[in-house]
Amino acid sequence: MDELDCAVIGGGVVGLAVARALALAGREVVVLEAEGAIGTGTSSRNSEVIHAGIYYPQGSLKARLCVEGKQALYDYAGQRGVPHQRCGKLIVATSAEQVAQLEIIRAKAAANGVGDLVLLTAQQAVAMEPQLHCVAALHSPSTGIVDSHALMLSLLGDLENAGGMLALKSPIARAECGQDAIVLVAEDGTALRCNTVVNAAGLLGPDLARRFEGLPAEAVPTAYFAKGSYFTLSGRAPFSRLVYPVPEPGGLGVHLTIDLGGQAKFGPDVQWVASADDLVVDPARGNGFYAEVRKYWPALPEGALIPGYAGMRPKISGPDEPARDFMIDGPESHGVRGLVNLFGIESPGLTSSLAIGRYVERLLAAG
Ligand SMILES: Cc1cc2nc3c(=O)[nH]c(=O)nc-3n(C[C@H](O)[C@H](O)[C@H](O)COP(=O)(O)OP(=O)(O)OC[C@H]3O[C@@H](n4cnc5c(N)ncnc54)[C@H](O)[C@@H]3O)c2cc1C
Repeated sequence: MDELDCAVIGGGVVGLAVARALALAGREVVVLEAEGAIGTGTSSRNSEVIHAGIYYPQGSLKARLCVEGKQALYDYAGQRGVPHQRCGKLIVATSAEQVAQLEIIRAKAAANGVGDLVLLTAQQAVAMEPQLHCVAALHSPSTGIVDSHALMLSLLGDLENAGGMLALKSPIARAECGQDAIVLVAEDGTALRCNTVVNAAGLLGPDLARRFEGLPAEAVPTAYFAKGSYFTLSGRAPFSRLVYPVPEPGGLGVHLTIDLGGQAKFGPDVQWVASADDLVVDPARGNGFYAEVRKYWPALPEGALIPGYAGMRPKISGPDEPARDFMIDGPESHGVRGLVNLFGIESPGLTSSLAIGRYVERLLAAG
């Protein structure tokens, strides 16, 4: 049987960031990825936004790792030439009743260590974005966008330079967790004896962990899937910053993001589905977008929204439950030596990826 120090299951942005951190700490690391390329899962189906860390509950992993990860990501992208832009974001109140919400959001952000939000009058906001309609806005200057594929390639380069390896087409079927080692068994029956295993399988993480013999069943949450569909805008982007309405219960509202090529898109919306594979965009869902978008961009032309792509949120709380925090469980939580499970790494997982890498490395170093 082959032996290995650390195996990271999953070659998405989180698995690669964790593998990089472990390799830089001097560990022998192999990333085991089921598909024929890195980053074909949720990591290539998101908004590519570097989130500021505004909305998450104070003290949560989401808040802490987002704020730490944002700074780490800007520094990293700057040093490595990963395309990114600190374009900023406006959160807009489109009715008088929503204005009080902006102050609440600003206070929440400040509690998370995001003290740079600026309250703007309608005139100030329109001076920044002439096509915008609002009665007031919050400006978040530290929100940005990043090329997630370039980021993943750079993380992989670091991993390989530090002696780590990537094994593609290596789907892991199950594991046997023992006192001295964890034996991973691939779908073709190949067995690998590892000191350390990090389960970064994204949407399929809970399903895989349920096939880890020796891991208590209560250590694995139920997986839920919340699809998010995007509609792209035909024509030029009307704004140079990201524009978000005041959040509504259950979601961030129909917001506008831009990519590094200047293409604007609206979404993602929220649709709870039964399967992680349900990624086809239903064109009819776009009909509901027009009225929402016109609240802050009245000039949206009829017929300008084109079905784009969909991403799947790896949820660990159901539609009627409060959103759960990232679940990053090491041996102290579940009792299995050498194992870290990452569950529910939804947004802001891309922003947080470098910070998650460090967090997992420290968790394992602590024993
Ligand atoms: C609609 C949407 C929008 C988002 N927007 C943002 C945003 O703007 N900013 C932000 O910070 N975050 C955003 N996110 C969150 C971010 O995309 C995710 O947190 C991040 O991509 C998760 O990365 P991952 O590596 O955990 O998962 P994934 O990218 O899904 O990677 C998991 C990998 O594991 C592999 N795998 C699965 N099972 C096995 C197995 N048995 N054996 C081997 N390999 C396996 C898969 O093939 C896959 O490559 C968004 C998410 C969604 C859904």
